[in-house]
Amino acid sequence: MHDSKDTKFIPITSITDGVIQAVAPEVYCLPVQVVNVCFIGNPGKANEWVLVDAGMPKSADTILEALTEKFGSANAPRAIVLTHGHFDHVGAIVELAEKWDVPIYAHSAEFPYLTGEQSYPEPDTSVEGGLIAKMSSIFPNEPIQLGSRLKELPNDHRIPDMPGWRWIHTPGHTPGHVSFIRIDDNVLIAGDAFVTVKQDSLYKVLTQDKEVNGPPRYLTTDWEAAWESVGILKHLEPTVAITGHGPPMYGTELTESLDKLAADFDKIAIPDYGRYVDPNIH
Ligand SMILES: [Zn+2]
Ligand SMILES: [Zn+2]
Repeated sequence: MHDSKDTKFIPITSITDGVIQAVAPEVYCLPVQVVNVCFIGNPGKANEWVLVDAGMPKSADTILEALTEKFGSANAPRAIVLTHGHFDHVGAIVELAEKWDVPIYAHSAEFPYLTGEQSYPEPDTSVEGGLIAKMSSIFPNEPIQLGSRLKELPNDHRIPDMPGWRWIHTPGHTPGHVSFIRIDDNVLIAGDAFVTVKQDSLYKVLTQDKEVNGPPRYLTTDWEAAWESVGILKHLEPTVAITGHGPPMYGTELTESLDKLAADFDKIAIPDYGRYVDPNIH
């Protein structure tokens, strides 16, 4: 098991960095610099919770310190579950999985990027979308190697150690991207299928101004699939959504924003130009 060869600390942050927030019963969110990780279950007790995604590179200490501050100690979870394998969602995973000695679950279509076989396509620095896209060339994209800890999410859409939750395949941003929904109250963890901050403005990433947007542009390679995935998530009628980037969004604000995104995805989310944009899609 090893980190990607080009992993490094990325010097960007947000004003909500490092503070755990309760979003729904047994659902907590922690912004790590500019990306969210989630704790599902009871992190106050060892083996009674699951970590969803693993933050920015070099952020293991931030995650452990935030857990200790909120729950008294950084108890081990039962597993780590991934929405996808981008560098900002697996940054601390090698360190944490080894420390806690836990399995890691992901969709099989994401495996090449998690087993050292394949690099994600280079971030598209030419895409329409401002400063973050421009700086995306410094982002690590060499594959991480998760070794024998990596396990496939089961075919029946259940999530090991997350009773009451189901995974949904939401490709587009990456081939094996998945989202998670809790059946009882429609709490949604959407990963980067859509986000609640306008990524293409560095200022808004820093201040975490709320705005529903499509997946981060510089890393999204299949815009048609991404649009379909947003439609699927909208039909699940989530009551609250924690996305990979940006603050949690609730109720009517979420419903209305998601309806609008699904209807006008070509105008809101798909960039006007870029390496991964099909000129016929608009
Ligand atoms: Zn991503
Ligand atoms: Zn992301």
